[in-house]
Amino acid sequence: MFGLLYVITGLGITVGYHRLISHRSFDCPSWVKAGLLIAGGWALQNSALKWGADHIRHHAACDQEADPYNATRGFWYSHCGWLLVEQRHTDEKYAVRLRQDPIVMWQHRYYMPIVLSGLAVPFIVGFSHGGWRSGLSCFILAGIGRTFAVLNSTFCINSICHIWGRQPHSQANSSRDSWVVSLITFGEGYHNYHHTYPSDYRNGPQWYNFDPSKWLIATLSFLGLAWSLRRASGPAARPSNLPLTP
Ligand SMILES: [Zn+2]
Ligand SMILES: [Zn+2]
Repeated sequence: MFGLLYVITGLGITVGYHRLISHRSFDCPSWVKAGLLIAGGWALQNSALKWGADHIRHHAACDQEADPYNATRGFWYSHCGWLLVEQRHTDEKYAVRLRQDPIVMWQHRYYMPIVLSGLAVPFIVGFSHGGWRSGLSCFILAGIGRTFAVLNSTFCINSICHIWGRQPHSQANSSRDSWVVSLITFGEGYHNYHHTYPSDYRNGPQWYNFDPSKWLIATLSFLGLAWSLRRASGPAARPSNLPLTP
């Protein structure tokens, strides 16, 4: 249950919240989008509306005062400290486009019931398998523990991937590529590529880059459940081929 929910909720964030909602790197049917946003909501990282607006601001003001997880303020600030301080900048400008999506607004409205259902699922499965003791164990490990693990995997992109790693695509900001971080974040560790080509549905553009998020999007496309996959064209993926704005 821990592993299964780690994969489901992690991909809900990377494919749903990040590549679909924040960057519009592909399109899909409403029911697929709703499923991805429910999975993302289970990760307890705020609604897709708030998450996406924060993230668009991160790209627009990277390493600057208005960057919500500004890595120039140090590892712990960009990892999770930013959540504990009052934000002086508003997201409203970046939320305008997201507010036009009825599924994003539906998920925002029902965010708390979605979060609670994500915690209830492991308890119910455990309880039906072996009573209260099993239900509680499953809740602690696959509910609380899994949420803590997925939260920290996402935090690593904002901290580690802006401090350590290579910058093969651009040195315009502090973003770095880290294949190690990709192993726990479903491919999001190729963050220097992502900041250079934010609308690309892939974060690891080479076939051998470990990027399960792009594999899921490509699989959905193969099944006819995703289309308009955006990518920076050409083997060298020149920056001019794709808008730098999210
Ligand atoms: Zn970044
Ligand atoms: Zn992004």
